[in-house]
Amino acid sequence: MSDSKTIDEAAWRARLTPEQFRVLRQHGTERPGTSKLNAEKRPGIFVCAGCGAELFDADTKFESGTGWPSFFAPLEGAVGTTKDRSLFMTRTEVHCASCGGHLGHVFPDGPRPTGLRYCMNGVAMRFEPAA
Ligand SMILES: [Zn+2]
Repeated sequence: MSDSKTIDEAAWRARLTPEQFRVLRQHGTERPGTSKLNAEKRPGIFVCAGCGAELFDADTKFESGTGWPSFFAPLEGAVGTTKDRSLFMTRTEVHCASCGGHLGHVFPDGPRPTGLRYCMNGVAMRFEPAA
């Protein structure tokens, strides 16, 4: 996976759907309530739609009421964060640590035990049910 960062834009366009490309590579945001992952409640792992890296365990998913899949903690080392000062506010952007693809944002208003809410774009992930 570590060579994923070197894949250029044309290659990303070829391997992603237009909506996945818009979110993962252009920091887009899907319309709330549009991801089928919102309703996903089975045990399993949410993986990056860009590179397949494992991001979130279904155990950490919770219903935030926002219309985006939300988690209180990522898998260890799975995501990175940067300060995002667009839209006239400072938010913390979340991306895949393996390929750099944009996933969503993290906010300090989540449930226990972390108090964090990882507000993710469902289109940026795939769900792999536990065997
Ligand atoms: Zn990735």
